[in-house]
Amino acid sequence: MDERDDTINHMHGDHLALDLAVTIRHDGHDGVADDLAQPAGLTAWVLGHAEDLRRHGFPAVPFTADEASRAAVAEVRTALRALFARAVLPGPPSSADTGRLPDPAAALERLNAAAARVPVHYRLAWPQDGAPAAGHHPAGEHPRAELLAAALARAGIAFLAGPDRARLRACPAPRCVRYFVQSHPRQEWCKPSCGNRARVARHHARQRAREALG
Ligand SMILES: [Zn+2]
Repeated sequence: MDERDDTINHMHGDHLALDLAVTIRHDGHDGVADDLAQPAGLTAWVLGHAEDLRRHGFPAVPFTADEASRAAVAEVRTALRALFARAVLPGPPSSADTGRLPDPAAALERLNAAAARVPVHYRLAWPQDGAPAAGHHPAGEHPRAELLAAALARAGIAFLAGPDRARLRACPAPRCVRYFVQSHPRQEWCKPSCGNRARVARHHARQRAREALG
Protein backbone atom coordinates (compact mmCIF):
# COMPACT_ATOMS: atom_id res chain seq x y z
CA MET A 1 0.00 0.00 0.00
CA ASP A 2 1.31 3.43 -0.89
CA GLU A 3 1.10 6.01 1.88
CA ARG A 4 1.23 8.98 -0.44
CA ASP A 5 -1.94 10.98 -0.26
CA ASP A 6 -1.40 14.55 -1.26
CA THR A 7 -5.01 15.65 -1.05
CA ILE A 8 -5.42 15.59 2.71
CA ASN A 9 -2.92 18.18 3.79
CA HIS A 10 -3.99 20.82 1.32
CA MET A 11 -7.32 21.60 2.93
CA HIS A 12 -5.79 24.35 5.07
CA GLY A 13 -3.79 26.24 2.51
CA ASP A 14 -0.04 26.35 2.47
CA HIS A 15 1.51 23.32 4.10
CA LEU A 16 4.75 23.26 2.19
CA ALA A 17 6.81 22.50 5.30
CA LEU A 18 4.48 19.68 6.34
CA ASP A 19 4.50 18.28 2.80
CA LEU A 20 8.29 18.27 2.90
CA ALA A 21 8.37 16.51 6.27
CA VAL A 22 6.11 13.69 5.05
CA THR A 23 8.34 12.79 2.11
CA ILE A 24 9.58 10.29 4.69
CA ARG A 25 6.80 7.73 4.89
CA HIS A 26 6.23 4.10 5.64
CA ASP A 27 6.91 1.76 2.75
CA GLY A 28 3.82 -0.45 3.14
CA HIS A 29 5.80 -3.08 5.03
CA ASP A 30 7.75 -2.46 8.21
CA GLY A 31 10.24 0.01 6.82
CA VAL A 32 10.48 3.66 5.91
CA ALA A 33 10.69 5.04 2.38
CA ASP A 34 12.21 8.37 1.37
CA ASP A 35 10.66 10.11 -1.64
CA LEU A 36 13.75 12.31 -1.86
CA ALA A 37 16.38 9.58 -1.76
CA GLN A 38 17.33 10.40 -5.37
CA PRO A 39 17.50 13.76 -7.18
CA ALA A 40 14.70 12.59 -9.52
CA GLY A 41 12.39 12.32 -6.52
CA LEU A 42 13.15 15.91 -5.57
CA THR A 43 12.54 17.10 -9.14
CA ALA A 44 9.06 15.56 -9.05
CA TRP A 45 8.31 16.95 -5.59
CA VAL A 46 9.43 20.48 -6.50
CA LEU A 47 7.40 20.53 -9.72
CA GLY A 48 4.39 19.27 -7.77
CA HIS A 49 4.75 22.17 -5.31
CA ALA A 50 5.71 24.87 -7.80
CA GLU A 51 2.94 27.26 -6.77
CA ASP A 52 3.69 27.13 -3.01
CA LEU A 53 7.42 27.37 -3.68
CA ARG A 54 6.95 30.43 -5.84
CA ARG A 55 5.05 32.10 -2.99
CA HIS A 56 8.02 31.41 -0.75
CA GLY A 57 10.47 32.93 -3.21
CA PHE A 58 11.65 29.98 -5.28
CA PRO A 59 10.80 30.07 -8.99
CA ALA A 60 10.43 26.33 -9.42
CA VAL A 61 9.87 25.97 -13.15
CA PRO A 62 11.94 24.75 -14.90
CA PHE A 63 13.72 22.63 -12.32
CA THR A 64 15.94 19.57 -12.39
CA ALA A 65 17.38 18.52 -9.05
CA ASP A 66 21.02 17.62 -8.61
CA GLU A 67 22.75 16.04 -5.64
CA ALA A 68 23.56 19.45 -4.12
CA SER A 69 19.91 20.52 -4.05
CA ARG A 70 18.81 17.10 -2.80
CA ALA A 71 21.31 17.24 0.08
CA ALA A 72 20.36 20.84 0.95
CA VAL A 73 16.64 19.99 1.05
CA ALA A 74 17.25 16.83 3.08
CA GLU A 75 19.09 18.92 5.66
CA VAL A 76 16.15 21.32 5.99
CA ARG A 77 13.80 18.34 6.25
CA THR A 78 15.86 16.80 9.06
CA ALA A 79 15.75 20.10 10.96
CA LEU A 80 11.99 20.33 10.38
CA ARG A 81 11.32 16.82 11.60
CA ALA A 82 13.34 17.50 14.75
CA LEU A 83 11.29 20.63 15.39
CA PHE A 84 8.04 18.80 14.60
CA ALA A 85 9.05 16.26 17.25
CA ARG A 86 9.33 19.15 19.69
CA ALA A 87 6.05 20.66 18.52
CA VAL A 88 4.01 17.52 19.26
CA LEU A 89 5.33 17.17 22.82
CA PRO A 90 4.23 15.77 25.18
CA GLY A 91 2.97 13.38 22.49
CA PRO A 92 5.43 10.93 20.93
CA PRO A 93 7.23 11.92 17.70
CA SER A 94 7.04 9.97 14.45
CA SER A 95 8.64 6.57 14.96
CA ALA A 96 10.65 7.02 11.73
CA ASP A 97 13.03 9.35 13.51
CA THR A 98 13.75 7.50 16.73
CA GLY A 99 17.33 8.20 17.67
CA ARG A 100 18.21 9.81 14.33
CA LEU A 101 17.45 13.51 14.79
CA PRO A 102 19.56 16.45 15.96
CA ASP A 103 18.43 18.01 19.23
CA PRO A 104 15.91 20.87 18.87
CA ALA A 105 18.48 23.60 19.50
CA ALA A 106 20.76 22.32 16.74
CA ALA A 107 17.75 21.88 14.44
CA LEU A 108 16.65 25.45 15.09
CA GLU A 109 20.10 26.71 14.19
CA ARG A 110 20.14 24.64 10.98
CA LEU A 111 16.72 25.89 9.89
CA ASN A 112 17.63 29.52 10.55
CA ALA A 113 21.01 29.10 8.85
CA ALA A 114 19.38 27.70 5.70
CA ALA A 115 16.99 30.67 5.61
CA ALA A 116 19.75 33.19 6.31
CA ARG A 117 21.88 32.10 3.34
CA VAL A 118 19.46 33.92 1.03
CA PRO A 119 18.36 37.42 2.03
CA VAL A 120 14.89 38.31 0.76
CA HIS A 121 12.85 41.39 0.01
CA TYR A 122 9.26 41.29 1.20
CA ARG A 123 7.22 42.73 -1.63
CA LEU A 124 3.67 43.51 -2.58
CA ALA A 125 2.43 42.56 -6.03
CA TRP A 126 -0.89 44.00 -7.21
CA PRO A 127 -1.78 43.22 -10.80
CA GLN A 128 -4.34 45.41 -12.63
CA ASP A 129 -6.85 42.59 -12.83
CA GLY A 130 -6.07 40.71 -9.62
CA ALA A 131 -5.84 40.83 -5.84
CA PRO A 132 -2.82 42.15 -3.96
CA ALA A 133 -0.41 39.46 -2.79
CA ALA A 134 2.66 39.55 -0.57
CA GLY A 135 5.75 37.56 -1.43
CA HIS A 136 9.40 36.98 -0.67
CA HIS A 137 11.91 37.74 -3.39
CA PRO A 138 15.55 36.62 -3.14
CA ALA A 139 18.10 39.43 -3.18
CA GLY A 140 21.28 38.83 -5.16
CA GLU A 141 22.58 35.78 -6.98
CA HIS A 142 22.58 32.39 -5.28
CA PRO A 143 23.01 28.75 -6.31
CA ARG A 144 19.66 27.05 -6.98
CA ALA A 145 20.25 24.59 -4.14
CA GLU A 146 20.56 27.46 -1.66
CA LEU A 147 17.52 29.26 -3.07
CA LEU A 148 15.41 26.13 -2.74
CA ALA A 149 16.62 25.25 0.76
CA ALA A 150 16.06 28.84 1.90
CA ALA A 151 12.50 28.91 0.52
CA LEU A 152 11.69 25.68 2.34
CA ALA A 153 13.32 26.94 5.53
CA ARG A 154 11.19 30.12 5.36
CA ALA A 155 8.09 27.98 4.87
CA GLY A 156 9.13 25.94 7.91
CA ILE A 157 9.65 29.06 10.01
CA ALA A 158 6.24 30.41 9.01
CA PHE A 159 4.57 27.08 9.76
CA LEU A 160 6.21 26.58 13.16
CA ALA A 161 5.51 30.17 14.21
CA GLY A 162 1.93 30.00 12.88
CA PRO A 163 -1.40 28.79 14.22
CA ASP A 164 -1.21 25.30 12.65
CA ARG A 165 1.67 24.20 14.87
CA ALA A 166 -0.71 23.65 17.79
CA ARG A 167 -2.73 21.19 15.66
CA LEU A 168 0.30 19.24 14.46
CA ARG A 169 0.25 15.54 15.43
CA ALA A 170 2.25 12.40 14.72
CA CYS A 171 -0.13 9.72 13.39
CA PRO A 172 -0.24 6.88 15.96
CA ALA A 173 -1.47 4.20 13.52
CA PRO A 174 0.65 1.05 13.25
CA ARG A 175 3.61 1.61 10.89
CA CYS A 176 2.51 5.15 9.93
CA VAL A 177 5.27 7.73 10.33
CA ARG A 178 3.39 10.80 9.08
CA TYR A 179 2.82 14.14 10.73
CA PHE A 180 -0.48 15.85 10.00
CA VAL A 181 -2.43 18.96 10.97
CA GLN A 182 -5.74 18.14 12.62
CA SER A 183 -8.82 19.31 10.71
CA HIS A 184 -10.85 19.07 13.92
CA PRO A 185 -9.83 18.58 17.57
CA ARG A 186 -10.79 14.91 17.70
CA GLN A 187 -8.99 13.82 14.53
CA GLU A 188 -6.77 10.96 15.63
CA TRP A 189 -5.30 9.65 12.37
CA CYS A 190 -3.60 11.29 9.40
CA LYS A 191 -6.22 9.75 7.11
CA PRO A 192 -9.11 7.28 7.27
CA SER A 193 -7.11 4.26 6.10
CA CYS A 194 -4.81 4.70 9.12
CA GLY A 195 -7.84 4.68 11.43
CA ASN A 196 -9.06 1.47 9.81
CA ARG A 197 -5.66 -0.17 10.17
CA ALA A 198 -5.46 0.85 13.83
CA ARG A 199 -8.97 -0.51 14.54
CA VAL A 200 -8.11 -3.82 12.86
CA ALA A 201 -4.90 -4.05 14.90
CA ARG A 202 -6.81 -3.35 18.14
CA HIS A 203 -9.42 -5.95 17.22
CA HIS A 204 -6.74 -8.60 16.63
CA ALA A 205 -5.00 -7.65 19.88
CA ARG A 206 -8.27 -8.10 21.80
CA GLN A 207 -8.90 -11.42 20.09
CA ARG A 208 -5.43 -12.69 20.94
CA ALA A 209 -5.95 -11.61 24.56
CA ARG A 210 -9.27 -13.51 24.69
CA GLU A 211 -7.66 -16.62 23.17
CA ALA A 212 -4.80 -16.38 25.67
CA LEU A 213 -7.35 -16.38 28.49
CA GLY A 214 -8.84 -19.52 26.94
ZN1 LIG B 1 -1.28 7.75 9.45
